[in-house]
Amino acid sequence: MTRSGAYSFLRRPALLRGVAGLFLFALLCIATLPTVERYFLDRAGLQGEATLRIAVEGLDATLDRFEPLPKLLAERPSLINLLNDPTNQGLLPFVNEQLRLTALSLGVSDVYLMDVGGTTIAASSYRKERSFVGRNFNFRPYFVQAVEGGLGQYFAMGTTSGERGYFFAAPVIDNTRIIGVVAIKFDVRPFETAWSGGASDIVVTDLNDIVFMSNREEWHFRTLFPLRGEVFNLIAETRQYPLERLIPLDVKRSRISDSFDRLSINGEDFVLSSQTLADVGWRVLHLTPAGHARTQAIFVLSLAALLMLLTALSATVIVQRRNRTRERIEEQTRANEILEQRVMQRTADLNTANAQLQREVTERAATEKRLRTTQKELIQAGKLAALGQMSAALSHEINQPLTAVKSYADNAATFLDRNRVKEARENVTRISKMADRMAALSGHLRNFARRPQDTVRPVDIRLVLDDAIELMGTRIRAAKAVVNFEPAAEPVWVNGGRLRLQQVFVNLLSNALDAMDLSDAPQIDIRFEEVSDTRLRIIVADRGAGISDDLISQLFDPFFTTKEPGHGLGLGLSISFNIIEDFGGRLSAASRENGGAEFIVELDRATAQVDGKDLAAE
Ligand code: ADP
Repeated sequence: MTRSGAYSFLRRPALLRGVAGLFLFALLCIATLPTVERYFLDRAGLQGEATLRIAVEGLDATLDRFEPLPKLLAERPSLINLLNDPTNQGLLPFVNEQLRLTALSLGVSDVYLMDVGGTTIAASSYRKERSFVGRNFNFRPYFVQAVEGGLGQYFAMGTTSGERGYFFAAPVIDNTRIIGVVAIKFDVRPFETAWSGGASDIVVTDLNDIVFMSNREEWHFRTLFPLRGEVFNLIAETRQYPLERLIPLDVKRSRISDSFDRLSINGEDFVLSSQTLADVGWRVLHLTPAGHARTQAIFVLSLAALLMLLTALSATVIVQRRNRTRERIEEQTRANEILEQRVMQRTADLNTANAQLQREVTERAATEKRLRTTQKELIQAGKLAALGQMSAALSHEINQPLTAVKSYADNAATFLDRNRVKEARENVTRISKMADRMAALSGHLRNFARRPQDTVRPVDIRLVLDDAIELMGTRIRAAKAVVNFEPAAEPVWVNGGRLRLQQVFVNLLSNALDAMDLSDAPQIDIRFEEVSDTRLRIIVADRGAGISDDLISQLFDPFFTTKEPGHGLGLGLSISFNIIEDFGGRLSAASRENGGAEFIVELDRATAQVDGKDLAAE
């Protein structure tokens, strides 16, 4: 971990709290360890007490069982007889055998008979190598007690057998005289064997705190405390225990609780339970190893620590999850707020833009209104101008024949006055021609002012062109012009009206001839051009002067003409343009590259074939 990593690790308060908590918990465990251990020590003590009670009861029962036996044996006549006649070789074997059988049946290690001097005259062990027979036991307290008429009992290590045992003795009384002592000795090893099964130890000490019974053999004859001098002397005198083994154990005693003490023997720790056998002055100690209690305490505390750790971990995980969820919610809330703010800002922007647009729309509407007004005014002005132009043209066109008509009429009247009928007739004929000319002019005007006719039908454009060329035949021939037109073999159907289309092409041919007025070799080319499957172009090209660019835009305006007054009204192209538009087509003009002009009539192709009746429909 890097330095900064370590700092950030330590800066995390939750982790610090966790570490501190664990540390405190460890301290708590260490602090409570003695208490928990004491609890387990107490429990061990209580269990020890139960075991102790059973052990003490067993000992008590055995002592109670053996205690009356010497007295009963002492009443046997054979023993009395033998004591009265110790050299009776007939009786001695019998008594010996009798005592052996008694020992066997009672389950004691030895039964033996002593005279008043303490010498054994018969014994159950008479057959054994280390027989009691002949041995003197007058130094033993149990003998002394019995020979004085009492009931002797005593614990000691056998001087003959070297085995520890408990002795009971009773006087043999012949009438009122004590003539001997009968004693039994029982082995204590079966007790020790029974005690050695468990984990705990049992120790029996005598009045002088000398261990004379224990399942731990190494403690036999050891003392709990150093022996006083007179006690040592007394033991030496009675040869009760082997003196060389009376070495004190290293014993320390301390309190565990109100009920139990801890006893340390040669470094081993035990929980002590003890009970006294008042009759015999013994103390039975039950020693439970204290180490178990510590192990148990540590185990329980470890378990508790583990549980606490798990609980703490679970709690930490839950708290962390909750914190994370809360953080996420807060983050979301923040993000939402930011979003809302943005939306509000955008809305405000949009509102501003809307207002701006609204303003612009209003402004545009106002501008449009102004524009329309201006346009209307312009149109009005245009109309007035057109009207002016038209008036000028019309007045010129009409005034001229009118002036002529007036002078012809005046002359005709004069001729009639002079009776020159022939001249007068000529003048009238001229007047009639003038009238025809004015009628033609009015016809043109009527055409121009006509309402667009909506009858549109398939027309074979080849026939229209043929008709137009034929109608213009006289002028073409007069001008010595060549018209190049190679009509297709099949009909070419377009949407339109035959007569109106004819009018358009007559007009175009007439203009072309006008444009080539001064030409030596006037030539008109008529050709078709495919725009698409549904659209067709008919191009009429001439070799005249052409049209300058600035004039092209005005060609189709009504009353626009470059011709001399009396030669053109400026209505032909304007009328043609409207006719073609009525058919959904387009009329346009262009200059040719090598001189001359060309007029392009673009029309929709038609699919259905219609016979010549359409002429009547026009
Ligand atoms: P008008 O023939 O009575 O003058 P139009 O409307 O037919 O009226 O023609 C308007 C004008 O367009 C003509 O005066 C002429 O200047 C020009 N124009 C028409 N056709 C041609 C052409 N083929 N070549 C050059 N100029 C043309």
